[in-house]
Amino acid sequence: MAEGRKSMETALAIIGGGPAGLAAALAAREAGVEDILILERDSVLGGILNQCIHNGFGLHTFKEELTGPEYAYRFIKRVEEAGIPCLTDTMVVDLEEEEGEKYITAMNRKDGILTIRTKAIILAMGCRERPRGALNIPGFRPAGVYSAGTAQRLVNIEGKMPGRDVVILGSGDIGLIMARRMTLEGAKVHTVAEIMPYSGGLKRNIVQCLDDFGIPLKLSTTVVKIHGKERVEGVTLAKVDERMKPIPGTEEYIPCDTLLLSVGLLPENELTEELGAKMSPVTRGPLVNESMETSLSGVFACGNVLHVHDLVDFVSQEAALAGKAAAEWLKENGNNVTEADLVLEQAEKQETAAGRMQAEKTAITVEPGAHVRYTVPSKIRPDKAGEETLIRFRVDNVLKDHYLCVSYNGELISRKKKRILAPGEMEQVVIRHSDFEKYPELSRITVHIEAE
Ligand SMILES: Cc1cc2nc3c(=O)[nH]c(=O)nc-3n(C[C@H](O)[C@H](O)[C@H](O)COP(=O)(O)OP(=O)(O)OC[C@H]3O[C@@H](n4cnc5c(N)ncnc54)[C@H](O)[C@@H]3O)c2cc1C
Repeated sequence: MAEGRKSMETALAIIGGGPAGLAAALAAREAGVEDILILERDSVLGGILNQCIHNGFGLHTFKEELTGPEYAYRFIKRVEEAGIPCLTDTMVVDLEEEEGEKYITAMNRKDGILTIRTKAIILAMGCRERPRGALNIPGFRPAGVYSAGTAQRLVNIEGKMPGRDVVILGSGDIGLIMARRMTLEGAKVHTVAEIMPYSGGLKRNIVQCLDDFGIPLKLSTTVVKIHGKERVEGVTLAKVDERMKPIPGTEEYIPCDTLLLSVGLLPENELTEELGAKMSPVTRGPLVNESMETSLSGVFACGNVLHVHDLVDFVSQEAALAGKAAAEWLKENGNNVTEADLVLEQAEKQETAAGRMQAEKTAITVEPGAHVRYTVPSKIRPDKAGEETLIRFRVDNVLKDHYLCVSYNGELISRKKKRILAPGEMEQVVIRHSDFEKYPELSRITVHIEAE
């Protein structure tokens, strides 16, 4: 550690104070962890929810329709009441592990660069939007091209309108929400263009944000040119074929002063990769087991940093599991949790380490089959699994009247009819603990979709 640098210690450091970080902190505290520190780069807690002033949050958790800030506030209040310390305006820039200790390098204006030594870490950094640079749209770089999330922040937090005549590229939830928001603020949203043959957003958002306002959704369509040098003057749209190539002759010019991009979210995992966690090429998040633990012992992940969620309720649920599991891990690894749980005897620790190795050996692989893009978790250790383990996943296409299937070691175990499955909606299956006794040879669970 560099000399003169401020240093701190904690048992559990949580990186990110969005809904995932907050729910994880609360669950860890409930499970007995006294020494927790939340690190948040923004000046306030709450994450992306602070700019989501529309309602529709918390239907599962609170059985109420809340706005994003209202949902976040319920958790922030509980974190404050529990006296969990938070360092806001503090950006984590590096993570390292040395001889079983984990070191976090963070920066803020008050302390400069600080080092935090911690036993366990929960990664809850959320995700960021895919930028224009990733799209290769020809044209100049005129003013008026924004990511949908930036436009949302400008309108909802800073009170500024990005433009008046709008085209939106991408039909993920942020694009859909912004189509409605810009319309409510007096802009004309001409169209939402989506390169895929289906929307990437929730059905309810298509109905409530586009259909209710008469905004057309053009599927299999993309922006092939942005016009204007200083400011956007229009865009050319074109239909695309099955290989996503624009079809000549289908071009359509739409005059506009603003193009909003809602073309995907990327989990913020530079720190996770630096630390050496095994990553999923599909979700771009770390691979985790049933306890939301990454391939690195004592490093957990939850929320959008793990996989992009559709509903915040599932983020909070998953984060609570990570918080509880981190508390268990701290107990097993001999860290102070509460007075009652103080340091385990050496023999007990060795037993725990041996138990962990055994649990790893008997871990069941969870794999995606036909039409399933990924699964979270990708491993289940029966010894560590609760009464029910939820496997969450997304499908690769819009599928009508298909069957959601689970196979154990290749043998079909369950088959449930689903009227509609869509990539925009996260799906789940439940694995009961009793199955591990019923199928002692179980080594592979496959989640797959079958046609009629
Ligand atoms: C526009 C939009 C509309 C949505 N609408 C709905 C809806 O109607 N209903 C619903 O249920 N869900 C909705 N969601 C989804 C829901 O809001 C997200 O799933 C949820 O906010 C994700 O929580 P998170 O904590 O994982 O990430 P975030 O909320 O993004 O929080 C991550 C936090 O980590 C911090 N951070 C990142 N890196 C660092 C670092 N290096 N150091 C310190 N701090 C760091 C960030 O500043 C941020 O505060 C919507 C999301 C968006 C973007």
